[in-house]
Amino acid sequence: MRSVTGRQALLLPLEHPLGATIETLMAIRTILEFPDPRLRTRAQPVTRFDADLRRVIDDMLETMYAAPGIGLAATQVDVHQRLVVIDVSADRADPLVLVNPEILSREGETATEEGCLSVPGFFDEVTRASRIRVRAQDRDGNAFERDCEDLLAVCVQHEMDHIDGRLFVDYLSSLKRERVRKRLEKERKERAARSASETRGRGGEGPGKPPRERRSAL
Ligand SMILES: [Zn+2]
Repeated sequence: MRSVTGRQALLLPLEHPLGATIETLMAIRTILEFPDPRLRTRAQPVTRFDADLRRVIDDMLETMYAAPGIGLAATQVDVHQRLVVIDVSADRADPLVLVNPEILSREGETATEEGCLSVPGFFDEVTRASRIRVRAQDRDGNAFERDCEDLLAVCVQHEMDHIDGRLFVDYLSSLKRERVRKRLEKERKERAARSASETRGRGGEGPGKPPRERRSAL
């Protein structure tokens, strides 16, 4: 999930030297974008808490922080396991890893303007429970329960939708969803055309810009 308050961060220059370093040293994974059919996959429970799982979790955290986003589900990086990472803290230093999460109870209602790393540049209001209790396992398989409210509750519900193959645009009218789909398709084409002409113009000058652009939100 992408936070509305993260909009400023989205305006960071893409050419920042850290951009290239992060891409090469850490395994930032490609985020699938709506309407990619793989986003509709229902994820399988995690059964092995091994080095492979820890690697996926670490990559997901790097991918989420780099995007930047406040939550990421494994489904979004084409890993179809019931696994989400979240960090809604202001200093981006409080990662929450939920393996095989389940919502035990829901209370209240809150309408939040949501965004999603798989639906870049689009925000709209979704109504969800304002308080939930979640049971999950940590990266080592230890079970725990946690009460979540406000933005954290919304984020957990948003990410848990992903591992069931649901997107926040599913809560909007089909007309709106279709408009988003068309706009993303158009942007993808423009991006492809731009990167093709940049490659031609630059010759053998190196890897060039990372493929994913940081558009400002909205
Ligand atoms: Zn999302």
